[in-house]
Amino acid sequence: MRCAAMTVDVDRDVNIAEKGRIGGVSREKDGKTSPRYKSAAKGLKMIVSILDDLGIQGTFFIEAETAEVLSKTIDLRGLLRSHEIAAHGIIHEDLTGTDTGIKLSARQVEDVVVGSSTALRGLLRRKPVGFRAPYLHIDDSVLQALAQEGYLYDSSVIRRQDKGEIYPYRVFGPLIEAPISSGVDKEGKKIVSYLWPLHERERDVRDYEHMVSKFSAGLLVLATHSWHMVESYKDGVLAEKKVAENANWVRTIIQGAIDRGVEFMTIEEYIEEHMGD
Ligand SMILES: [Zn+2]
Repeated sequence: MRCAAMTVDVDRDVNIAEKGRIGGVSREKDGKTSPRYKSAAKGLKMIVSILDDLGIQGTFFIEAETAEVLSKTIDLRGLLRSHEIAAHGIIHEDLTGTDTGIKLSARQVEDVVVGSSTALRGLLRRKPVGFRAPYLHIDDSVLQALAQEGYLYDSSVIRRQDKGEIYPYRVFGPLIEAPISSGVDKEGKKIVSYLWPLHERERDVRDYEHMVSKFSAGLLVLATHSWHMVESYKDGVLAEKKVAENANWVRTIIQGAIDRGVEFMTIEEYIEEHMGD
């Protein structure tokens, strides 16, 4: 069976980890790197509209501070009512300290893991069961904290498809890893199911269509950022024509997968349906 989950990280615009600072900043704009959320908000509405149009439920990994800021101008709870809500840190913490150089204590990691869930529950009245680490920076101590705090799954690992197959797997106790995956493109080069290079205009739709055509079984976790519809690292805030192009590409990739018989669902739904004990 071929299933796919469209997953969207909803976090501060064009985020970057900064040395000596636990939380993420935004790419420099007008001389400032303080976190911004405008592109995240606009892109979120666009992606939800595409998914709703196609009758698909997505999985949204929402950073707590972004949720708080967006809630001031958007009815986030209403917007995402038919989609899965999952956690993505409180202030986009680099949990492993790989880029910030700050190694968090076990207690600090636990505070982020618990706090990101509590904040979303307060704002959106639903308990997230999934987690994606900011920058995909994950290690055993983070996974252990997730297992201990009762999360159902993590989705921060990139794993290679085996002959087009890729499945979630158990990590610690009941905790499941639902990996983002990599396949090969037409030239035999590695391509990851994260749409990042598409929105940075380093890859085109056909590369992803090829990847989907080679996917043969399991759960294909497609991933993107809501702000990436509107802003890129390379070009900053995009002209409306390019924004529309981004929306078109995402729709084309999902529609193409549906046409090939791939069934879209949330990660939570996949785990419940296919990994029950
Ligand atoms: Zn993020």
